[in-house]
Amino acid sequence: MLDDISARLAERIGDPGLLPGSGDFAGDGRLAVRDPATGAVVAKVAISDRDGARAAVDAAQAAFPGWSAMLPQDRAAILHRWYGLILAAKEDLARIMVAEQGKPISEARGEIDYAASFVQFYAEEALRPNIEGVTSHLPDAEMELWREPVGVAALVTPWNFPCAMITRKAAAALGAGCSVVIHPSAETPLSALALAVLARRAGFPAGVVNTVIGDAAGIVGEWTADARVRALSFTGSTEVGRLLYRQSAETVKRLVMELGGHAPFIVFEHADLDRAVREGIKAKFATSGQDCLGANRFYIHRPVYAEFCARFVAAVEKLTLGPGMEDPDIGPLIHDRQIDKQKAHVADALAKGARLLTGGNVDKARGPLFFRPTVLADVPDEAAIMREETFGPVAALSVFDAEDEVYARANASEYGLVAYVHSLDPRRIYRATRALQYGMVAVNRTKVTGAPIPFGGMKQSGLGREGARQGLEAFTEIKYVCRDWG
Ligand code: NAD
Repeated sequence: MLDDISARLAERIGDPGLLPGSGDFAGDGRLAVRDPATGAVVAKVAISDRDGARAAVDAAQAAFPGWSAMLPQDRAAILHRWYGLILAAKEDLARIMVAEQGKPISEARGEIDYAASFVQFYAEEALRPNIEGVTSHLPDAEMELWREPVGVAALVTPWNFPCAMITRKAAAALGAGCSVVIHPSAETPLSALALAVLARRAGFPAGVVNTVIGDAAGIVGEWTADARVRALSFTGSTEVGRLLYRQSAETVKRLVMELGGHAPFIVFEHADLDRAVREGIKAKFATSGQDCLGANRFYIHRPVYAEFCARFVAAVEKLTLGPGMEDPDIGPLIHDRQIDKQKAHVADALAKGARLLTGGNVDKARGPLFFRPTVLADVPDEAAIMREETFGPVAALSVFDAEDEVYARANASEYGLVAYVHSLDPRRIYRATRALQYGMVAVNRTKVTGAPIPFGGMKQSGLGREGARQGLEAFTEIKYVCRDWG
């Protein structure tokens, strides 16, 4: 089983059984998984194809009646076991993640806690009542709403949070009583495989959890075309989200779409500037900037602009860059397309009049995927970085004068995932919260997400919510029942 996993990775972890060489329904093809820090191949994974994708749906469809009919407390017990196994394997899972994704090891450990928290949350949420009474408008009739699992759910996830994006979807779908087919990103299949091994150990019946790795367009295309797949939950770019939205129209699937972000980070005068700088660093540079919640555009009130720029640059210049296992502040980016995007956004901003305060290029001594943390000031609204998701360690700072002006500029985007606001003036905070067209508004702090929170965006940042009760309900249908005793 471990033939295709290099010694380099197997040596790093205590439980080599977490590294099967293939996903479910794999064929002869192989996918090389690279360590972004070194470019070295850490594993070769056997991949599947359209036939495998169809076979996965066959298995999920066959498992669905038994799984959905199981008592909720029995399903919850399996989810609780999965939760315990994920936490027990935290160090191994974190090291696997660093090997294929590159993020700093302490961030990887934090992601495992976050990933596990969804499994725990939905183990408990699965026990909540799934029948709701309705006040009758007819004499002698009783009315109820039953929530029933939708059926087979397809889950498609990105590489930036290789474990949490899977559990956030899978735990909710499984808690609701759906069986699942999962397609992880080609960059991070090992984390997905390790979670699948732990799911098997937790005791999910055969066919309930199926992980299929391989050509995304073929596999996911097979699922969007298959009428047996009743729900599609996708996290990734808005571009691919639009494509899957169109593909799903043919079979009218239930959709959850967690798409791109382009977060504004607004600092008003009378904010706690130390705090704004500290939280701004987190909002921009966590996950090496490769985060849908990443702050892309900093709008700073003129009275504090110069001071904020100076303090922010001083803090950025202290950030360390290095391979994830050295636990730096910033690791490598995932692939060279990400590097190209950073370079293009920096060059475009400079050409349009921005000033480079620090960084701006690759740290070649570290390797081709290490982009220096970068700060640009006086970035005009016409610059690409003020309109597109940069998804990397480049911060764009811009000055504003008036409240209405900054809300208009912050809202002038097709995205609407999260907005950050720093101020100690409650009335201003209230006005900002009202004005900003974002699914999440974070005031005076950066990390606001968690399993009990309905995570999601407005506009083209997505459809529906993940996490919280809403995350489970996305995998259910309402059946209205009326019983007339008259
Ligand atoms: P991506 O859209 O390229 O890929 C996401 C998933 O879709 C992967 O599993 C990939 O294999 C699959 N995919 C790619 N092309 C496909 C196709 N033609 N048909 C079917 N499936 C296809 O995104 P990415 O580069 O992996 O991730 C980065 C993006 O994800 C960013 O835009 C980021 O904002 C977004 N993201 C959003 C959230 C959120 O919760 N809103 C969270 C994390 C990442």
